[in-house]
Amino acid sequence: MTQIVTRFPPSPTGYLHIGGARTALFNYLYARQNDGKFILRIEDTDQARSTQEMTDAIIDAMHWLGLDFDEGPYFQSQRGDLYNRYVDKLLETGAAYYCSCTPEEVDEMRETARAAGLKPKYNGKCREQDLGPGPGRVVRFKTPLTGKVVFDDIIKGPIAWDVQEMDDFVIRRADGSAIYQMAVVVDDAEMGVTHVIRGDDHQNNTPKQILLYEAMGFPLPKFGHVPMILGPDKKKMSKRHGATSVMTYRELGYLPEAMLSYLVRLGWSHGDDELFTMAELLQKFSLEGLGKSASVFDMDKLNWTNSHFIKTGEVARLARLLGDLLQETSGIAPEQPYLEAIVPLYQTRAKTLKEMAEQAAFFFHTADTLPYDGAAVAKLLTPEIRGHLAVMASRMEALTAFDHKSLEDMAAAYLEETGLKFKALAQPIRVAITGSTTSPGLFETMEVLGRERTLARFQKALTL
Ligand code: GLU
Repeated sequence: MTQIVTRFPPSPTGYLHIGGARTALFNYLYARQNDGKFILRIEDTDQARSTQEMTDAIIDAMHWLGLDFDEGPYFQSQRGDLYNRYVDKLLETGAAYYCSCTPEEVDEMRETARAAGLKPKYNGKCREQDLGPGPGRVVRFKTPLTGKVVFDDIIKGPIAWDVQEMDDFVIRRADGSAIYQMAVVVDDAEMGVTHVIRGDDHQNNTPKQILLYEAMGFPLPKFGHVPMILGPDKKKMSKRHGATSVMTYRELGYLPEAMLSYLVRLGWSHGDDELFTMAELLQKFSLEGLGKSASVFDMDKLNWTNSHFIKTGEVARLARLLGDLLQETSGIAPEQPYLEAIVPLYQTRAKTLKEMAEQAAFFFHTADTLPYDGAAVAKLLTPEIRGHLAVMASRMEALTAFDHKSLEDMAAAYLEETGLKFKALAQPIRVAITGSTTSPGLFETMEVLGRERTLARFQKALTL
């Protein structure tokens, strides 16, 4: 049996976007599931718009998502000679020809056709002229004059194209460079790609590519065209609908496993399942589950997915990721054990690591740098309450264990003694140790802060 080979061929003219990452994921999964090969090919023939920076960014994003490739990156810009050898072969076999028509002449042909109510096409003027090479001459493919190109799309089923929809399209520019259709077909064939799974914005290219495969005597791969991703307003997804670059989601505190779980559902389904780990995807993914209709990018669902993976994530890893984010955004580097104690307090509260970092920011201050909510201080830290806090501080100092149970017992005893209600002290204490009126459970928070920080904050609050 032939090995399954899939590929992801981004053009490095922009960052890895949501749609590209989804296509890469489908190809990755299908290859992995079948002990196949997943290839990365950088389609950088548009030298003016392609940059090394974007190539690096795309590769970084793939690493972040864990979409490891087995081969590549190949660079189309380094393979021009290969493409040209095949163009020459097509010329030799008579499947292609030189054309001396100027761009203006071709425009005119198209205009004439349009005026006659026909499809604007090159009219085949040089098709039978048997011209040789010369300045300004392009090479065109001899598209058959009659018949249909038919293929069975993995996702959409049988698709037929009348060849009359096509003209003798250019395969080599006058400057000697092969055009995209040629490069893709030569690469996919040379790399042994068996399944071309790509966005349906490329569906119109497929008939031309099939003709090229046939003319060069290559076996045809299977094609699958994945419907587009739309925004909630049902228009093609764009920046208006949220970040389109995958790595922006990293910066916003999304987990790669959440991105994968969310991305795979944009165009693929497995019963009513909504959440998938990579292990589950490797088991459950199938080409049959790819849907025919466009999917809608939904931030709420992505947030819900991310919340799930934060809730169920391994604490040590989340702590490391939180640490990275803090380092990148605030230049602070808290100790891993401290982060590991903080993370569980937020796993059910934060939708993203960024939210977690924001909500937990008070943990990373010293008593002196901690920002206090002035209004809350004025309202809650009354002279009477300050008196209670001072007593509690001295009791906390004397506690043998500084854990939430001991703290809770200490507070209960104090409330009993004074006849105060928990409510009367809870918010003032919260303000004293966090600077604000929202935080996770009071005693858990104190335990994680530890005795030293908690007492320093009590002292500080008493001076405000
Ligand atoms: N380079 C093309 C793109 O980025 C992909 C072409 C293909 O999948 O065949 O859209």
